[in-house]
Amino acid sequence: MPDEVKEAMLEAAEKYVNIYELQQQAGKYIAKLLDIEAAFITSGAAAGIFLSTAACLAGSDPAKIAKLPDTINICNEVIIHRSHYNHYLQLVRAAGAKLVEIGSPLRGTSIWELEDAIREKTAAVLYFVAYERSGDIPLQDFINVAHKSDIPVIVDAAAELPPVRNFKAFNDLGADLVLFSGGKALRGPQNSGLILGKSNLINSCMLQSSPNERLGRPLKVSKEVIAGLVVAVERFLKLDHSKEIEKCNIILDYIKEKLSSEETIDMSRVYKNHNAALIPRLNIKFDLKRLGVIRQEIVDRLIAGNPPIYFGEPKNSLDTLTINPFVLIPGDEKVIINRLKDVLGHIKNAK
Ligand SMILES: *Cc1c(COP(=O)(O)O)cnc(C)c1O
Repeated sequence: MPDEVKEAMLEAAEKYVNIYELQQQAGKYIAKLLDIEAAFITSGAAAGIFLSTAACLAGSDPAKIAKLPDTINICNEVIIHRSHYNHYLQLVRAAGAKLVEIGSPLRGTSIWELEDAIREKTAAVLYFVAYERSGDIPLQDFINVAHKSDIPVIVDAAAELPPVRNFKAFNDLGADLVLFSGGKALRGPQNSGLILGKSNLINSCMLQSSPNERLGRPLKVSKEVIAGLVVAVERFLKLDHSKEIEKCNIILDYIKEKLSSEETIDMSRVYKNHNAALIPRLNIKFDLKRLGVIRQEIVDRLIAGNPPIYFGEPKNSLDTLTINPFVLIPGDEKVIINRLKDVLGHIKNAK
């Protein structure tokens, strides 16, 4: 966390507040900063999936709110792309909903499949930006079809920052609730997140969250977390993001240069974020045959060292590890270089 975030948390720790008021005012303030109808601070994007589902199931009806996760006489179906299937969906079920999957990961998904799945019991549709594939129903069409039947749209955009414009981009497409992590590139408290969207649904999220003794009570956010995330958002809006990306490039260039004499690796720059976020990463491809090991051995050795280092492990290239430099602290690059050289040295010597 940047210094100003830590300072805000410390300051909050030393103050008395009315937590309801703080939640409300913080939400209003963030909504205004981001030019969005309403905002709610919760304990992460996963909490956002759970609360957004609960909001779409119960709205502001106190009887329904009290009944969840039981859904007797409550519309309880949430539609998703089968190709977006992921473990966070358990949280949709935890709120009381049933998942309805449409389409095929192999053949894609058609608009008629969404139209066909929407029926009386539908409570919401849910879209994961990170798991979007060509062949899916594009988000704009997904939203338009749902809205034709007055069904709210939840968008998981947990890791879609930067660019800053993404704060608003999905709401601008018409999404009703959009979720972001506070503890990723925003660099707020690790256990923080944002729900951005329509005020009636945001109000329902608030009614179902701590300090209310309702379904979302376990997803408590402290006054320190609220203060920290507000300041993290302010900071993120002021940042010169092209400079941040440039810093990433400098770090990766440095790592690449210092490792250029290693004969058993081959390095290349990759960009993989959605929506043109363009955070550069460095792929390190290992000559595993020559090293005589599988990738897991390199991973294990990097984790076993001091400090432990965790690289990205791309699932579809089993000889490659990835460095995402976005939140490295100056000096970390030297540690990474030394440890990687050590590990390669050990493997070669052990042969
Ligand atoms: C990280 C992530 C989450 C969970 O976010 P938390 O803030 O850690 O709860 C959910 N969905 C996607 C796509 C993510 O990348």
